[in-house]
Amino acid sequence: MLTKLLSRALAPAPALQTPKVSTPAPLTAPPRIQNTAVRAFQGTSGFESARLTKPLLPPLPPLSPGDLGKLINPRRAAVEEALATGNPVPFTNTDGKTEQVSVTQLPGGVAGGGDDVYVVTVGNDRFTVRVEEGADVDAEAVLAQVIDSYSETPEDLRGSLEHVVIKGEADPEGAAARAGDGTITFYGGEANVTADIFHHEIGHLIGRQVEDANDSWLSGILEKLAGEPPPIPDGWADAAAADGNHLNDYTEESFEDSGVYTEDFAEAWSEYMRALDDGPEALAEFERTYPERSEILEDLYPPPA
Ligand SMILES: [Zn+2]
Repeated sequence: MLTKLLSRALAPAPALQTPKVSTPAPLTAPPRIQNTAVRAFQGTSGFESARLTKPLLPPLPPLSPGDLGKLINPRRAAVEEALATGNPVPFTNTDGKTEQVSVTQLPGGVAGGGDDVYVVTVGNDRFTVRVEEGADVDAEAVLAQVIDSYSETPEDLRGSLEHVVIKGEADPEGAAARAGDGTITFYGGEANVTADIFHHEIGHLIGRQVEDANDSWLSGILEKLAGEPPPIPDGWADAAAADGNHLNDYTEESFEDSGVYTEDFAEAWSEYMRALDDGPEALAEFERTYPERSEILEDLYPPPA
């Protein structure tokens, strides 16, 4: 293409109709190019376009595997960059919200045994992720998923989570994951590390944090003596009873067995987070189905206006 244009440009100019009135060009001006081919050539590849497209020249080299990864999964790429550089990197979660994230792997001796332990900082909050020895997981993928879900959690409730543990083996009772004492444990490798399960489990931790925050000093002491009440906000049991339904068979069975709404709250938190992800219609449907529960949830985490 270039060669063709050049040869045309260098070819003798075709005879031009002489303009009836011609103004002589000032002496300082560059000679006018009267050949249309040359004008066209300069118009597309000369100064103007060179200025506009300079970053694209010379032609882009093929994408490196890292760049390809950024296109396919920018969150995983951010984790890889954070691990490689040791610096905070911008991490844009699935809500489109960007926060500074750093991920540091502890040296083996500090981590203990053959486990891989990562210290993760999201904004101003920090937690650890321990991948147990023998758990056959794609660590970067698991970290990206956990960080994504964690960053969706409102900041004032993030302190409820301190540790994430990924176990290779299945839970003897068949649980996908468990939560307690500031720790979420996933069983069966990375298969159960999903947004829904993460939000359910952190829902247990948030329920405990909120229940503790609701305690007066006296009820705090009484609970120490008599045992902690279920990890749910004040008024949750009444709200669930007033809604008069269960979220699913699992929460219904759990309530029938235990008489408490622990699973109900965790599952409601997870479904509420999903409704927020899915948009106004999903949220409206959630509010219609669980009006009383919604009031408590929206107090904890007001939906976007
Ligand atoms: Zn649960």
